[in-house]
Formats: sequence, C-alpha cells, structure tokens
Amino acid sequence: MNALSRRELLAACLGAGAAAACRRPPSIRFEGELLGPSASQGHRLRQGFRPPPVRRERTGVAIVGAGVAGLSAAWRLERRGCPDFAVLELESDPGGTSRSGRNGFTAFPWGAHYVPAPLEASSDLSRLLGEMGVVEGEDGEGRPLVAEQFLCRAPQERLFFAGAWSEGLYPRFAASPEDLRQLRAFEAEMDRLVGARDARGRRAFALPTAASGRLPELDALDGMSMAEFLDRRGLTSPRLRWYVEYACRDDYGCRLETTSAWAGVFYFTSRVERPGARASELVTWPAGNGALVAHLARLAGPRLRTGILVTDVVPGPNGVEIHAWDTAREEAFAIDAGHAVFALPHFLAAHLVSPYRERPPPHLAAVGYSPWVVANLTLRARPAERGFPAAWDNVLYDSGSLGYVVATHQAGQDHGPTVWTWYLPLTGDEPRAARQLLLSADWRHWAEVVMADLRRAHPDLEGLVERLDVWRWGHAMVRPTPGLLRSGILEAARAPLGRLHFAHTDLSGIALFEEAQAWGVRAADAILAARAAGPSR
Ligand SMILES: Cc1cc2nc3c(=O)[nH]c(=O)nc-3n(C[C@H](O)[C@H](O)[C@H](O)COP(=O)(O)OP(=O)(O)OC[C@H]3O[C@@H](n4cnc5c(N)ncnc54)[C@H](O)[C@@H]3O)c2cc1C
Repeated sequence: MNALSRRELLAACLGAGAAAACRRPPSIRFEGELLGPSASQGHRLRQGFRPPPVRRERTGVAIVGAGVAGLSAAWRLERRGCPDFAVLELESDPGGTSRSGRNGFTAFPWGAHYVPAPLEASSDLSRLLGEMGVVEGEDGEGRPLVAEQFLCRAPQERLFFAGAWSEGLYPRFAASPEDLRQLRAFEAEMDRLVGARDARGRRAFALPTAASGRLPELDALDGMSMAEFLDRRGLTSPRLRWYVEYACRDDYGCRLETTSAWAGVFYFTSRVERPGARASELVTWPAGNGALVAHLARLAGPRLRTGILVTDVVPGPNGVEIHAWDTAREEAFAIDAGHAVFALPHFLAAHLVSPYRERPPPHLAAVGYSPWVVANLTLRARPAERGFPAAWDNVLYDSGSLGYVVATHQAGQDHGPTVWTWYLPLTGDEPRAARQLLLSADWRHWAEVVMADLRRAHPDLEGLVERLDVWRWGHAMVRPTPGLLRSGILEAARAPLGRLHFAHTDLSGIALFEEAQAWGVRAADAILAARAAGPSR
C-alpha cells in the first residue's frame, strides 16, 4: 500500500471506530490472492484498442456480455425458438457480478448471493426457478411455491452489537422507547407504501422496477435523498438510521445521503406482497446467484464463448457489426449479426459503441458506480460464538463492511470447514476516489482490513483462516443517487440504436437479478418481434 497508511485505510473502509479498536495489526499467516475482472483488458479498451479483424463470422443475434442480462437474453431467445445466437464474454467464467467460485468442499459467491422468492407465478424469475426445480408449483392464490431446501435456512440473519450477537438486523438491545417508537413509525410508513398503486392498479414499487406504476407524488421521492426522507418524518433515531442505511449500503453501495428516497423505499416495499405481510423469503444456494448463472450458461452451451473481449460495436441499417479479440488465440475477428444485445455495464458504451464513442450522450456520464471489495475466507473450523448462533448473514453494527454470509449454511453444515464471503461497499461521495483507494491497496492490506473487521466479533479467527482471497469490483453497482431513476436519463440509456438493444441492470438504476433479467428478456423480445415482422428485419 502506498498512498494511505494501514490505519488510514482501516478508517476509510471500516470507520474511525474500527480503526481505533485495531491497536495492533492482525497477523497474516495465511495465503491468498488479489482477484478481479480483467483490469488489463479494460485498460486496453480505454486506450482505444481496436485491432483490425483477420476473419469474419455471421450470427443471427450477438449478445455481448454473459452476465445475468446477457444470459437472460439468450435464455429468452432459446425458449422462444430462436437458437441462432452467440454470447461473447471477456472473462473465463460467465456471470459477471453474479459469478461464483468453488474449493475442495463448497461453492461460494463472488458477488450476488440471493433472490427473494418471486411474488407472482407469471414473472420471469418464477419461470426460471420453475425450470430449475426451485419453484414447484403454485399455491391456491397463484403464488409460486418454492421448494423448502432453497429457502434460506434459519437462522437467516444476526447482528453483532454491543459486544454480542443477537437475532435480526435491527439493534434492539437497550433500545429506548423513542427508538422503538420511531422504528414502528418507519415500518408503518413502509407498510402504507407497499399498498400504493397507480390508476392502472400497478404497484408503485414493483420488482422489476419496469413493472412499477407511476404516481407523481411517489415519483417525486426520487428528487430527495433517503436522509431527507427520514429527516422530514422526524426519524432521527441513530439505530433506525443505521438500519435504513445498512439497507442502502447492502443493495446500492450508497449512504443515506447518496441514495434516492424512491430507491430506499423500494428496498423495503417491493418484496412485500401486500400491507401487513412479511417480506418474501430469500432463495439462496452455496454458490449464491452463481447457481442461476450455471443454469443459464448450461442452456447457452457452446454458443457461450469466453475469453472474448468485444472492442467495437457498430449498428448499421441491416445489422450490427461487432469486432472482438480472442484472448487465447490473440487474434481479432468480426461478427456480422442480424441483431445485437449490448449487455455490458453502461459506461462501457462510451468506449465500444460507435456513435456514442464519437458523440457521447449525457446519459453516459449520468450513470455512476460504487466500487466493492468481496473477500472469501476459507476456514478450517468455526470460531467460538458469543450470543445468538451463526446465521447465513452475519452483520456487524458500526462497521463500513456488511459482514459475511456463510457458504455452507444452506447445506446444513454448521461445523467444520467453511467459506465466509465478506462484503465491503466503498460508499464515499466520490466513486472515482473510492476506485483509486480500491486499486491502491495490495492483498496484504485488504487481508488486514478484513481481519481487523471480523476480529472484533471473532477474536480467535486468525488461527482458523486457511486462505483469504480478495475480489476488487471497480464498477460493482450502479448508484441510484437522487434524481437518477425518475428524471428521464435512464429512458434515454434504454433506447435501442437500430438493431442494437441495450440490456443491463444499470438501465434500472438498481443492481438486482430481476432487473438484469428483465432487460435481457426485453431485448430478446424486441428482437423476436422485429424478426417476426419480416425476413429482412
Ligand atoms: C458484490 C455484489 C453483490 C451483489 N449481490 C446481489 C444479490 O445478492 N442479489 C441480487 O439480485 N443482485 C446482487 N448484485 C447485483 C448484480 O449486479 C446483479 O444481480 C446482476 O448480476 C447484474 O448482471 P448484469 O448482466 O446486468 O451485469 P454484469 O454482472 O456487469 O455483467 C456484464 C458482463 O459483461 C462482461 N464484459 C465486460 N466487458 C466486456 C467486453 N468488452 N467484452 C465481453 N464481455 C465483457 C463482464 O465480464 C460481465 O460478465 C450484487 C452485485 C455485487 C457487485
């Protein structure tokens, strides 16, 4: 680490309290690696790397990117009888921010780790889970029934607060009557908003967001921050504000001040079926959403090509020309596609898509990202516990991190070796500075940050770590900052360019499986409709 001292890095990532509590550096007696998306290839793109192609191919539909959006476009095309597509992915494994890894005894996530049980049987998530045998049918009211073994096993979550673990995420220990009154007031307000519907009967806060109704008074929430939303309601309790901010950091990598109040309310309302109901149960696997990716990738089969860096995307009147670099063969090639789906993070369109490169539209600069660090700790055994027993999700109060999820929890293995996946969103006001911080620290310093954070709750952890691998996500999550979701910026970003369609979770301004899936499916549907309209289309 060059720019910051160890203590400064701890304070920047975990907060001043955590840095002060870490009087001696954690001893790092294990190995690990610093991982991440191909930074050198990304750097090449920014340098204008566009080698001339030495050969040409043809395909019906070229899908650029094998994250959830790209794989969902392929899924839809396949299921609707259009198998003539190719999916081009830079990395050696598909999945993007939903990818996963595996060691000798368990799979584990490198990013996304759950989806809520779908609320409607007709949703695309429900259909996908049905194919996978996760949804087994419908209940009497048409709600999907998720097979027991895929519902997050109890105990689901716990919080380390005031020196001990307790159940749930709200810090109830020694909460004052006023703290609890404010918690109830907040919950009552969220419950009211769960029931909000527009004139067409659509829920105001639906998942995916494209299904949400439009109510001017609720759309106006996008103009203020979640901090302002709480201020206006006199919700000043530090515990409540920590709890709500935890949600913003968890789903958006943002703080209360940098989260749109619409997005903040969406977090608490979109997964609840009706007022008075509990939030949907969580569906998870040891690999996290890597299990969904594996299913989609299997379906794409050999049409999914990895190690392919797309360098140029040029929509024309009769198709889309794509240039790519085969990283294994070190050879550039071109693909003439009837249609294409650009399923990459939106900021990359500025480097890759021909008309945007020459004349960048305003929406390219308006979409910003939070960087994240994800660490996977391989443990040879579990640490001793204080208070409530180990859960799937284990959160530390008063830490910049989000704590960790336990990969073996869902498999019912509560003893012996495991993998903990630890999450840290870098929520600074200036994402560019946060990205510099992300890249400036080496493996040892990140390992020290992880251990300093976890040691507060698990003083005996150091002797149990076999290895600790760190993944740096530079552009991990689109940030739903005030004004992004309801100002028209995203509508412009979604607009196709002739036969080139855009599909990525960024287009919702919110990073979730259902959002990425919805844009992938929408792009595929638009292509299917155009093809159905005439052979020349
Ligand atoms: C740490 C973390 C935790 C998360 N947790 C959850 C969760 O629990 N639940 C949830 O629903 N969501 C979660 N998310 C959100 C997650 O981003 C979405 O669920 C979803 O995976 C986004 O998919 P995508 O296809 O839109 O984008 P991406 O994941 O960004 O996929 C884009 C793909 O394009 C590829 N690519 C990039 N450049 C090129 C190029 N030039 N040529 C070819 N290929 C290229 C990338 O390698 C990648 O595979 C999390 C995200 C992060 C970062």
